[in-house]
Amino acid sequence: RIAYVNGRYVPHRTASVHVEDRGYQFSDGVYEVCEVRGGHLVDARRHLDRLERSLSELRIAMPMGRAALMAVLREVVARNGVKNGIVYLQATRGVARRDHAFPAPGTAPSLVVTARRADMAAQERLATVGVHVICVPENRWPRVDIKTVGLLPNVLAKQQAKEAGAREAWFVDAEGHVTEGSSTNAWIVTGDGQIVTRPAESGILKGITRAVVMEAAKALGLVVVERAFTPQEAYAAREAFITAASTLVMPVVEIDGHTIANGQPGSVARELRQRFHDFSEVS
Ligand code: PMP
Repeated sequence: RIAYVNGRYVPHRTASVHVEDRGYQFSDGVYEVCEVRGGHLVDARRHLDRLERSLSELRIAMPMGRAALMAVLREVVARNGVKNGIVYLQATRGVARRDHAFPAPGTAPSLVVTARRADMAAQERLATVGVHVICVPENRWPRVDIKTVGLLPNVLAKQQAKEAGAREAWFVDAEGHVTEGSSTNAWIVTGDGQIVTRPAESGILKGITRAVVMEAAKALGLVVVERAFTPQEAYAAREAFITAASTLVMPVVEIDGHTIANGQPGSVARELRQRFHDFSEVS
């Protein structure tokens, strides 16, 4: 495997960044995960739009122009022979003597890009049976709209889910509403067929998959309502599912030990999963 690290394509096994990289010391950086399908990047334009926004919120410079960045993403995918999988991009404020305040202007941001294959068969098998979710108290900072590499609460929540035999943890805020999963957006389908997901103005990362699924659902004549929902509403929902670039639409069949509907993936989630790539953009 090959990784891109600050201007070089190097063997993945020995690819490394400096010990004084601010990503390593302060989580002072952001990332993106983009799906690769048939060797092409899925919704790369939207992922790069979000990358630019995350970086500008943190006042980190784009490590290179968008066209050059696209070329690097494509090159890493090609050099690794990835047909179906993901490409990962991480940009940090760069390497500087450890000091919380920003380093001197002109310090170059660091850029790392890796790619890896997905086990498509395993993913599809999982989608046919659905996954379990647990709910955990929200304990992240309020700026979860920025896709930073500071993911410790997400790591702990995912581990807690794993130890409980679940695939994902949904954070629940102080008002008792689900915000999102540790690495996915959260959705339910109500008894009258409305597709419900939390508005992106607070408490969540504005998922690219979320945006495409909203467009797909509307195009398929389904009703999407952006509003917050509680775990209790989710337990009683007709369907539940999660979305992310790495898992696409993944049905949820159990939440906190409550079986959702008949315990099988719902028809809305199955249709949205099946039709997703009719509505995403490949490049
Ligand atoms: N929320 C969180 C916290 C995430 O980490 C992710 C995946 N990066 C998502 C939502 C889903 O975003 P996307 O659809 O852009 O992958």
